[in-house]
Amino acid sequence: TSLEELTARVSVCRACPRLVTWREDVAEAKRASYSSEPYWGRPIAGWGAPDPAVLVLGLAPAAHGGNRTGRIFTGDRSGDWLFAALHRAGLAAQATSVHAGDGQRLLHTRMVAAVRCAPPANKPTTEERDTCAPWLDRELALVAPSVRVVVCLGSFAWEAGLKAYRRQGYDVPRPKPRFGHGAEVLLTGPAGPLHLVGSYHPSQQNTFTGTLTEPMLDAVLLRVRELAGL
Ligand code: SF4
Repeated sequence: TSLEELTARVSVCRACPRLVTWREDVAEAKRASYSSEPYWGRPIAGWGAPDPAVLVLGLAPAAHGGNRTGRIFTGDRSGDWLFAALHRAGLAAQATSVHAGDGQRLLHTRMVAAVRCAPPANKPTTEERDTCAPWLDRELALVAPSVRVVVCLGSFAWEAGLKAYRRQGYDVPRPKPRFGHGAEVLLTGPAGPLHLVGSYHPSQQNTFTGTLTEPMLDAVLLRVRELAGL
């Protein structure tokens, strides 16, 4: 399978009944509000460089962000925050990510969500995470030759990343390393050493309350560049 085939195949997945209903109901209800644009309402594929040094692992698409625009972290406040920081770190060509045709490019970087359909209240169930895991596994395997650092946005992504790399044959310590902002773990595996780095998720819940500030995110991304040798 190539990344292109994976993108095509995941975009028609209907394996999680609750998420299929939610993503399509949201799309149906909101299409009129965005009548000048198509409303995606389907799974979100990985996006960015095909041979990335850095992989950004998120939780799941937001109902009116990725679920609307069809591109991960695109079209909502979380994405605004993340792309501005990636641009400051030299990992995105533009400081904004507005819609899928805006000319934005990720530099040395790819993004993927642990769960590819928008969940109610941004909370996928454990069963949904596990049902979506084979898509993540395939993507991780395809980009493994180049990836040196995985940035996990939030504890859900951190857990999903550790589980996924254990399935890929990486030496994940037991007990599992704890998530935190700036947490780091070095894994060894079939494609060589790999750094997992934790960052608080740029959700409005974190950015509005000051739990995550711009300097905090910049510091993590600076460290990510360093670990990736960029
Ligand atoms: Fe398929 Fe993943 Fe969406 Fe579930 S969350 S329907 S497994 S793409």
